[in-house]
Amino acid sequence: MKSVENSSLEQIAEIWRASKVTVALTGAGISVASGIPDFRSPKGLWSEFDPMEYGTLETFIQDPEKAWQMFLAVSKLARKASFNSGHKALAELEKAKKLKAIITQNIDGLHQLAGSRNVIEMHGCGRTLACPECGYTEAVPETGLQPEPVPCPRARTLPASHQTHRYLKPNVILFGEDVKREAIQNIIHWQNSMDLLVIIGTSADVYPAAALPNAVKALGAKIIEINLEPTRISRTLSSCFLKGKAEEILPKLQKLVLG
Ligand code: NAD
Repeated sequence: MKSVENSSLEQIAEIWRASKVTVALTGAGISVASGIPDFRSPKGLWSEFDPMEYGTLETFIQDPEKAWQMFLAVSKLARKASFNSGHKALAELEKAKKLKAIITQNIDGLHQLAGSRNVIEMHGCGRTLACPECGYTEAVPETGLQPEPVPCPRARTLPASHQTHRYLKPNVILFGEDVKREAIQNIIHWQNSMDLLVIIGTSADVYPAAALPNAVKALGAKIIEINLEPTRISRTLSSCFLKGKAEEILPKLQKLVLG
């Protein structure tokens, strides 16, 4: 098996400079420095709320109060979080036209707060609430989520027999839900046009993001990976691997790429 060698920043910057269409795929790792833990963090949020138990559509429908406990905990963290130097570097690279789009699995909205414009939120965004039944949406209040599930204001006007989904849920894709068609269409567009994919802070285990590296590699794009540790694709698909923290590596790369 090919070993994972740490590539040099200069080597990666050269590939990035030569690329015509660079797209980033980001995961929970880029927001760890902002105070939002990833799934791997040994303690904290995800050991208290197993997403496979609390974060499924089934749980939300059958026991909204239970799902709401996890939503509240995530929302508290996200509300306190600010973007970090990794998010900022990507926003600057986009401004300088060296990054076309960010496809993110994160639901924290931090890329946009850092100034990125073309962000495809594959799993939605926790800063709005939506009714799964009728599509009604509203912003999460500045003061944060209410402590109890919020009934959909439209459902309240329907007869009880029509109230299949009575509550609003954070506008995110729960386990058991499909990624929105618009996001998929956007991802396919970039998949077919990119020549470089920069994968940052994701274990690349969760589908459909996990399918993207294979698809772009088959179409001839190069892959650069930035992560604390090698992932299942580092040996097989990545052209270059950079071991380290996204918030430290990305600002250095930004400087080198923009010269
Ligand atoms: P993951 O937890 O499976 O993997 C995170 C990856 O980031 C790991 O490979 C880890 O080694 C790496 N990492 C941790 N800190 C890093 C750092 N400072 N710099 C670079 N890399 C770092 O997360 P995932 O692959 O994104 O998939 C998990 C799912 O959980 C996604 O669907 C996502 O929506 C959701 N999630 C989102 C958030 C968020 O919105 N911030 C947080 C946790 C989980």
